[in-house]
Amino acid sequence: MKIQKNYSLRAHNTFGVEARAAYFMTIARADELLDLQSRRHESLYILGSGSNILFTQDINGLVLKIEIPGITAHEDSEEVLVEAGAGVNWHELVIWCVERGYCGIENLALIPGTAGAAPIQNIGAYGVELKDVFEYLEAIDLRTGKSRLYYKNECDFGYRTSFFKINKEYLITKITIRLSKEVRLKLEYGDIRKTLENMRIDKPGIRDVAEAVMVIRRSKLPDPNLIGNAGSFFKNPEVSIQDFEELKKGLPDIPHFPGRYDKVKVPAGFLIEKAGWKGRRVGRAACHEKQALVLLNLGGASGQEILDLAQKIRSDVQSRFGVLLESEVNIW
Ligand code: FAD
Ligand code: NAP
Repeated sequence: MKIQKNYSLRAHNTFGVEARAAYFMTIARADELLDLQSRRHESLYILGSGSNILFTQDINGLVLKIEIPGITAHEDSEEVLVEAGAGVNWHELVIWCVERGYCGIENLALIPGTAGAAPIQNIGAYGVELKDVFEYLEAIDLRTGKSRLYYKNECDFGYRTSFFKINKEYLITKITIRLSKEVRLKLEYGDIRKTLENMRIDKPGIRDVAEAVMVIRRSKLPDPNLIGNAGSFFKNPEVSIQDFEELKKGLPDIPHFPGRYDKVKVPAGFLIEKAGWKGRRVGRAACHEKQALVLLNLGGASGQEILDLAQKIRSDVQSRFGVLLESEVNIW
């Protein structure tokens, strides 16, 4: 166990902003943490690959970067339980499953991050969420140092949220998902069918769907290796039917989808674009020109500059449309 002091986190967040951790270490085995727990008392911060975090200040505590490896599968004739260490790269897990013909997470291809972070906000894209395949996870309660399994009914998964997003005292060490060996594809969302047609594929398989999703994502989303970002900065808001009817009076072309609890989900990106922010630059931060939900570090921006831009967008959208945007990105 090597603890580093006054450690730069710039290379450990996809926004590419500078922040320093008072202490930093990587964890490759769960028992290293149990050992550490008995010896330390300062605040712990858990880091995957930093693709959903905005650092706005230095971290006065110990940052633990989770690098627990390993993928195993237990299959019968119809299904397979796939277990992944929390440090496994999510996209590599998707490809590992696609290559073996395990169906269920192909629509979640190319989402950055680690397997251990996937339950935190119940990652989702193109009509599939982690909860659709989730079985259980193993986590350590950092207050007691005790580890146990948490089943789906304990995780309180919702739209980009879970029990673990709200309760931050748990370190997820591995996750287990249930996939199908029978091919059951979800093609109805967005441009998946159209993209498959463009790829001249009329009878798609699991691999084709993953490919189509990657094609769409690469065409719309900025690559964090080239320009700092954390994907969608805000969640898509869910509004009451009455509020939606009001909203529609001013914005007759607003797209809308069924939300939870009889609410209506509206795309935050549409509201931000209608408020005139799409493609706008403020200092070294900007709102992406192809997808207004994505905020960018154009180079050298601080986390605070990006947060200031987010706050300007949030208050403008609220005053124009009466809709409060909630951050999806974790602000540290
Ligand atoms: P981090 O950013 O390191 O951490 C996120 C949060 O999880 C933090 O609060 C952290 O403390 C906590 N955490 C991380 N690991 C653990 C652990 N092992 N135990 C306990 N807590 C932990 N998200 C989607 O849902 N759908 C998308 O389609 C999507 N597209 C994206 C596209 C781009 C270009 C980018 C940059 C991001 C996108 N995201 C998307 C957001 C992001 O990829 C996911 O939220 C991802 O799960 C974050 O993983 P991470 O390892 O980087 O987590
Ligand atoms: P899009 O297709 O332009 O659609 C805009 C929004 O409308 C989406 O965010 C989506 O909400 C909603 N939507 C569209 N079609 C829908 C349908 N058939 N049923 C229900 N909701 C629908 O979105 P995009 O920006 O290109 O992203 C495509 C997918 O990747 C989305 O699922 C998005 O969430 C995901 N994504 C997430 C992130 C992130 O950081 N969280 C970043 C990039 C992409 P949903 O978000 O609920 O799907």
